[in-house]
Formats: sequence, structure tokens, C-alpha cells
Amino acid sequence: MKKPATTPPAQQALLRVVLPVPLRREFDYLCPLPLPAPGCRVRVPFGNRALVGLVLAHPDQTDVDLARIKPVTTIIDTIPVLGEAELKLLAWAARYYLHPPGEVYFQALPTLLRKGEDAGYKPVEVWHGLDGDTSTLSRAVKQKQAFELLAPSPMTPGELAARGVPSAILNALAKKGLAEKKEQLPARSDWRGDIRINEDGKPRLTTEQALAVSLLQQAGDFSPFLLEGITGSGKTEVYLQAMEPVLKAGKQVLVMVPEIGLTPQTIARFQRRFPLPVCTLHSAMNERERLDAWLACRDGSAAIVIGTRSALLTPFEKLGLIIIDEEHDSSFKQQDGFRYHARDLALLRAQQLNIPIVLGSATPSFESLYNAASGKYRLLTLSQRPGSATMAEHLLLDSRHVQLEAGLSPQLQQLMAEELEKGNQVMLFLNRRGYAPVLLCHDCGWLADCERCDAHYTWHKSGNRLHCHHCDHQRARPPQCPQCGSSQLVGTGLGTEQVEQALAAMFPQYNAIRIDRDNTRRKGSFEQHLEGIRAGKYQILIGTQMLAKGHHFPDVTLVAMLDVDGALFAGDFRAAERLAQLYIQVAGRAGRASKPGRVVLQTHHPDHALLQDLANQGYRHFAHTALEERRQAGLPPYSYQALFRCQATQGEACREFLVPLAQQLAPALPASVLCLGPFSARMERKAGQFRYQMLLQACSRRDLASACRRALAIADTLPAARRVRWSLDIDPQELW
Ligand code: ADP
Ligand code: ZN
Ligand code: ZN
Repeated sequence: MKKPATTPPAQQALLRVVLPVPLRREFDYLCPLPLPAPGCRVRVPFGNRALVGLVLAHPDQTDVDLARIKPVTTIIDTIPVLGEAELKLLAWAARYYLHPPGEVYFQALPTLLRKGEDAGYKPVEVWHGLDGDTSTLSRAVKQKQAFELLAPSPMTPGELAARGVPSAILNALAKKGLAEKKEQLPARSDWRGDIRINEDGKPRLTTEQALAVSLLQQAGDFSPFLLEGITGSGKTEVYLQAMEPVLKAGKQVLVMVPEIGLTPQTIARFQRRFPLPVCTLHSAMNERERLDAWLACRDGSAAIVIGTRSALLTPFEKLGLIIIDEEHDSSFKQQDGFRYHARDLALLRAQQLNIPIVLGSATPSFESLYNAASGKYRLLTLSQRPGSATMAEHLLLDSRHVQLEAGLSPQLQQLMAEELEKGNQVMLFLNRRGYAPVLLCHDCGWLADCERCDAHYTWHKSGNRLHCHHCDHQRARPPQCPQCGSSQLVGTGLGTEQVEQALAAMFPQYNAIRIDRDNTRRKGSFEQHLEGIRAGKYQILIGTQMLAKGHHFPDVTLVAMLDVDGALFAGDFRAAERLAQLYIQVAGRAGRASKPGRVVLQTHHPDHALLQDLANQGYRHFAHTALEERRQAGLPPYSYQALFRCQATQGEACREFLVPLAQQLAPALPASVLCLGPFSARMERKAGQFRYQMLLQACSRRDLASACRRALAIADTLPAARRVRWSLDIDPQELW
């Protein structure tokens, strides 16, 4: 048999390309010379589709029969959209997460680029001032002001609107021949050089802050820091000052924040200190805005980039420092598709670029505490609040044997009344929206259960509807019990709506506001509520997590957590860590200004070791004890995990996939790798899907990775794989 050719004909060469398909491989195509560089996009035929692909390499040879290799259709880019550094990072990520490489690389591209659009700015409309007869302006004050603004520097309609110039004025100027609107590419701002720093409001650092700043400023090469600072200790000020020399050296800074932390106040704080181009990158931007911001990072016209998880994968012209605020936040881990952890990849990126990186938190993740203890990170500590801000007092309120009214014990009501009378604000925290988490029939015991999940509907009194918080399914609340016809349908359990309603009766002379996802859906309404709180329009705030993170309410002197007992007995080994982080986060809302604060946790388990530890000793002590427990149990961070998840409309199909997978894998596993399962999810059925999982755990990453590779190879041979949806999650943050 004739051996098929493996080298390409003259005038053509091979391109190795990744495609956005869920296959764990790269693809070869033929391309006329000169070849597009790695990081450029091409359009290629794939089956009967045309796909955008990303060039990775120019191989000399291929494993595929040359006769079967197809030519690329078009070359899209002449300049690579991803540079060498990003390609290296993504290649590593694809290997580490054992994820289809195409999906990994395409994750790093804005949607418009994935679709094959031009990697360039879109021309924008810009108003220019024109020379002409200005005598007619003497009586038109507004037009004169607008003209004076425009004459030295052209501006976009948006910039003009922000300065109070409406389009009618501009059109009037245009009529007089004094202004014109032109389409042009946005100017590439050159912020480098002699940069100014706004010294207004720059405080004198505390000793701890000063030490942290000086160590950060001295760090030139790759050096990871963990900045552990209690809430209100001034971590942001440390970031701001650590950024100064980096920006002065003309290098960019990436600030990563959790999904929920990217508020206008956060951006304003950075913008105020540095009058430089600040750009944001987050999921709520439209496709065009995202591409423009992405381009600004890549071409270096953005000095400071503030973004959520995906910002980490963005190319930078010259990145000099990475800051990850609230590094423990679970939103840094992507929960579907390419399940990367932005914090972990950020460390790798900093290492590859040889730059410093700071992870900041009041409640560092156990992984980071472990890395600090083992010397991998340098630990910087802020243990005090600057100035007169005092530490809050912590109380555990025993709610056994007392009459609770909408979840509030008489003792808590008393504490609230005291603070309210002093003119202070009170914050109640309850992580459950709606009126009641269960609706049941008083006569026959019927429960309003979601048809698609193993879960109860939450009853929302507003709109009188039932809402499943797991699959988002909604329906009207039935007027009668569908089982016995009784009209005695009652809610049990507590939701924010119910507390809000009860407060109106309990404290009629004070205004209460509820903040949860239900009443902040409208764009801008969250900010509006926050504004109202700051202005003192409301005295009682009741809310979910949304209220807990990062917001500054100087008049809040009492914070109470109403019902967290469930988390004490959750199945997930990370539940205690999460609860502690949430508790500290919520507690941090009290006494941020000069007023002393109180933090109250109402519980049926006031003697629980975790709660005692947290309330009396603080997070650090708690974490120390809990980490020791993890060590003894051999759990992360003392071991590594990988989770195979599987879902299907029939539970049987999941078992038909996972059981043989586990069986065939078992003989190949070294003793160092533990395989648990398959077992069903705690909530087995969600949104009509049955869910099963299999967990691998090992003390060595290498052993774990080779076990996973083995399992993937087996999975590909199992016929049941085509009847289920399955995925592999490396370093999973939660079990199903
Ligand atoms: P964290 O991010 O640690 O919660 P922030 O950086 O938001 O804390 O700081 C809390 C408050 O203290 C802010 O209002 C900040 O302006 C102020 N602050 C920070 N550092 C100092 C300082 N050295 N002296 C006085 N006030 C400070
Ligand atoms: Zn009934
Ligand atoms: Zn449901």
C-alpha cells in the first residue's frame, strides 16, 4: 500500500487551527503562502459548515492523509488577535482543565470576533468646531458655551451630553456653520508620559498599609501577595498606591472584581485617583462595547482595566500588575463550559509575564491561606481600621424557646428599637427572597412542588405567584389546594418579602426597604435604592447577599443575620467556609464609620463550634481550625479534585454512562487516586434533568490529571456518552 503524503505541495503549507467545537483536538488545513501568523483568525470549512478558526501553529507534517485536508476559505486577520503571551496562557489552560482547546481559545475572544468581525474600532460620530462668524452667538448663551467646548477639542455626542450639551444646541451650531458632525475612529488615547495623580482625598496610610504598599511597590518580578485585611481596613487604598509606580512606568493595571462588585462607586474610586483612561469589562456590556473595551486593553489605550472573571483572558499591550479583589469570591470560577478559575489562571499569567499579583480579601479562600502558610504567597495583613472607625461587637442570639415574629426574636426587636431611636440604620440579612420558601395545604398537607425539580416552589406574594428558584419556572399561585380543594394554603418558612411586610407593622414609624433580585431588576434601580439608603430615606434595610457585598453605609450600626442555620448542616465540605465568609462580609457592614456597631446572629445553635469560633475569635482563627480539619480529612487544599458531571432526562441514562466509566477506570487507577461514586446530586432532578456525578481525588496533581485523561479516553468509547450531557470540572468549587 502506498503511504499517503504528509507534506504539503509547493506554494501551500499546513495550518494548525482550533475551532469552537466541543472536541478535544486541533485541526489541520492547507493554506496558500504567506501563512497567517499564530493568533490570526481564518475561515474554514468544517463538515458542511463554515467556521471561524484560530491559527495555532504552522506544522511541517500532519497525521491526516493530505488528500483529505481541506483548504482554508479566507484569512481574516493580518495582525494576530491574540498575542504570544495569551496563546501560551490558553494552551496551558486547555491542558490543565482538559477542556476542548477550541472552546478555551474562543472564550478569550469577544463575541464579535468569534463571529469573524473585523478586529477594529467602529467609527464614532464626533462633533468638531468650525471657524466662522461667531457674532450670532452673543445672544445664544448655550450655543456659545458649546462652541467654546468644541473649538479646542472635538467630542462625541455622549461626551457633550455629559457636559450638559444636548443635540438640539449642536444642530443649531451646525446650521450656523460653526460645527459639524463627522464619523471617525476613536482617538487612541496616549496616557503615558507625565501622569498626574489626584492627591485629593489621599489619606495618610496606617503603619500596616504603609508596609503593604512599600512591599508591593518594591516587587518587580513575579511575586504573589495575599492581602488579608478586615473589612474597612483600607485594602482599596493599598491597591491604589501600589498602582502608582506601575502606571507611572507606563504599564497597565488589571483589577479583577467579583460579578457583584463592579459598581459605579468602585469605578469612580479608581477614576478619581487616576485621571487616566479606565475601562471596564463585564458580562452586561453589549457586543460592540465589549469589543471596543477589549481593543483598548490590547492596544494599550486603557491604563486601568476593571473587570470580572473574563477580563483575565483579555490581551494587554503591557500589563504591569494584577489585583484580585475579594479573591475568595466564587464568581471567579466559571461554572459551565470551560470551567476555569480566573484567580488561578491570573497567577499563571502573572508568572508568565513576570509581574506582581495581589489577592485581597477580608476572608481569604482556604486555598490562598494555605499558599500563604506554605510560603508560596507573601502575606500582608491589615488588622485594623484606620482612623476612628471601630470594630463591631458580635452577639449570638439564642432563638430557641422564644416566640419569633417574622423570624425576629423579641431580643432582636429590642436591639433594633434602640438603634432606630438613636437615629441609626439597621440592616437585616436573609438570603432568601420571596414571601415563603414553601406553600402547603393546611388541610391535607399538599406541597406546591416544582414539576421539573426535586424542590418546592417559593411563594412570592407580590404578583401572587409561585417561583422555582432552581429552574426559574413560574406560575400563578393556585386559589385552592389542587388535591383536596381547601382554600387553606399557607406559606411556611421565611423570605425577605415576609420580613419586609412584618417590619411595617412592627416599626410603623420607620421606613424599611427591601433589596433583593426581585426589586432591583430594572436597570439603575439598585443604585437608586442605595442612594436612598445613603440619603437616610430608609432606616431599616432588609436584603439578600446583594446588600452584603462591599457597600458602605455609614449610619448602619446594627446588622442581624436571621436564618443561616441551614448552612451549618449542608453536605458540601466548603459550606462552613462559605458561611464564615458571608458572615464576615455581612458583619463588615456594621460600624464602618465612626459609630460603633453590633453584629447579631440569630440561631438555634448558639453553641455550635463554628459560630462560637467566628463570633468570638474571628475568621482567621476559624479558618485555622477548619483547615486543620481539612488536612485530617485529606480534603482540598490538601488534595486535588476533579468531578465528572452527567445529566439526562432519564436517571438511567446517567448511570449507564457513569457506572461503566467508573468500572473501567478502576483497574487503571493508582492507589493514590480515590474514585467516589457515581452518586446522584443532592437535588437529583433539576429543570427536568436527572443529575449524577463521579469524584476523583488525589494528593498529586499529576496523578489526578493522568487519571482524568484516562477517564476521558474511556468516556469517548462509551455508547451511552451520546445519550447524556457530561462534563469534567477540574478543581470543582461545588458538588451537585
Ligand atoms: P476595604 O477595601 O478594606 O474594605 P476601604 O479601602 O474601602 O476598605 O477603606 C475603608 C474606608 O477607609 C474608606 O472610606 C477609605 O477611604 C478609608 N481609608 C482607607 N485608608 C485610610 C487611611 N489610611 N486613613 C483614613 N481613612 C482611610
Ligand atoms: Zn389540600
Ligand atoms: Zn424548578
